Amino acid sequence: MNITVDSYQSYLAERYGAWGTEQDMFMKLVEEIGEVAEVLNKRAGRKISDETNLSEQLGTELADLLHYVVAIAAINDIDLTSIILKKDRAASAKYHHSVCLEEYLSDHK
Ligand SMILES: [Mg+2]
Repeated sequence: MNITVDSYQSYLAERYGAWGTEQDMFMKLVEEIGEVAEVLNKRAGRKISDETNLSEQLGTELADLLHYVVAIAAINDIDLTSIILKKDRAASAKYHHSVCLEEYLSDHK
């Protein structure tokens, strides 16, 4: 199953739209950033770990991070897909990339 930014955003808008606040979502986002940092520290040996699958744990924490990023956009009715494409187009031009995301997606349909 594939997830699009649009569909994930719609889902989270339904989940949080009635009661979620950007301040609450941002605090959760910061909390999740700390959890990603903790896993990265374990992977680098800077923190003791008895976890057996740190890659899976990293994926779980990155998914949590993404959840709150998309949720903040969702409750503010921000068209994240459009902004991602616009930002990538500008960065691709600025840094002279050979292909921007929009072109990449067109070539890989
Ligand atoms: Mg987490």
